[in-house]
Amino acid sequence: MTDLDKEIVSRVGRVLPPAGGPYGLHEPTIDGREWDYVKECLDSGWVSAAGAHVGKLEEMVAEFVGTAHVVATVSGTAALHVSLLLAGAESGDEVLVPTLTYVATANSVSYCAAIPHFVDSDGESLGVDAKKLAAYLEEIADLDSGVCRNRRTGRPIRALIVVHCLGHPADMDELTAVCDTYGIALVEDVAEALGSYYRGAHVGRHGQVSALSFNGNKIVTTGGGGAIITDDAEIARRAKHLTTTARAVQRWEHAHDEVGFNYRMPALNAALGCAQMERLSDLLTAKRQLSEAYRRAFEGLNAVTVMTEPSYGRSNFWMNTIVLDAGLASERDQIMKLAGESGYVCWPAWRPLHRLPMYIDCPRMGLDYAEDIKARMINLPSGAGLISQ
Ligand SMILES: *Cc1c(COP(=O)(O)O)cnc(C)c1O
Repeated sequence: MTDLDKEIVSRVGRVLPPAGGPYGLHEPTIDGREWDYVKECLDSGWVSAAGAHVGKLEEMVAEFVGTAHVVATVSGTAALHVSLLLAGAESGDEVLVPTLTYVATANSVSYCAAIPHFVDSDGESLGVDAKKLAAYLEEIADLDSGVCRNRRTGRPIRALIVVHCLGHPADMDELTAVCDTYGIALVEDVAEALGSYYRGAHVGRHGQVSALSFNGNKIVTTGGGGAIITDDAEIARRAKHLTTTARAVQRWEHAHDEVGFNYRMPALNAALGCAQMERLSDLLTAKRQLSEAYRRAFEGLNAVTVMTEPSYGRSNFWMNTIVLDAGLASERDQIMKLAGESGYVCWPAWRPLHRLPMYIDCPRMGLDYAEDIKARMINLPSGAGLISQ
């Protein structure tokens, strides 16, 4: 334990006084009309597939994001799975996925019997590095009658999942250009990025279809849940159909016209979400203030950088992150341990997905940046309730 380790943890303490702890990494804020709406839902008896709350939540999200269609689901992972199917991912395809993301991003590819193909991230947004991707595809891919094909494996590269990592918007113009050049479908994983903007437009509107999460640790929670976002009416219709067991419209019997999924969000969860959505602008303000407080607290400490938003966009600051200088990487675990003992629950970044046992043999480009930043990142307590408004 060095003096610098102690100094870093004490700076976290300037933002989060030790008295109120322990402070979790991301605790939900339940201080709106959650009780009222959940009670309303219970009183109505429509707690599951029917009732008004699911439609209401979908409308609120559509209005906030500025998108034409929203389909609520049981989880962000389910939303990603169906998004990817609707983007055309099929058995034996490859789907480009950043290695620096939560495991659900790659799992959704596996659920389609497709193969994750891991790509690197950049330092400005922690999202997919567009320049590196363009150079890599130039080297390994051909456009063969409209289909992008991996020359090394012979498999089609069907889609790219862009993740707006920790709430920071990825560089969508550059990524869209790469996808257009190669005929690759673009799906956005906006699980962490409700309230984040790329050049003034809410994220999730650049790809054909996008997936949000309302898990308990996200900026807005429904307990567990997610949503598919799209501006395309036909994709929205298919999303609704596939997530509701592909029920055929038929009055007197249960009939289904393909293998669908029981991925519909229950009304109870949606009721909670409606109350949370009402508070979203306040939550965003609080999270921005918290992030500014961390940046002020670390001013003048050169060995540590507090992540900020990319120049081209606006982050929801879902997660606050400090990045240690290369020389300090070996202290990372000591710093997290000391922080934990002081009541500040800190976490490292996810283990890069290409190092997980089920993905160890998947195709990949050089992943130097993700490996390097993973070794130096620490995520700090980031719930909106940590800052008093
Ligand atoms: C949370 C998350 C998901 C999955 O959402 P769940 O609602 O937990 O299924 C997917 N991708 C990323 C980047 C996430 O952070």
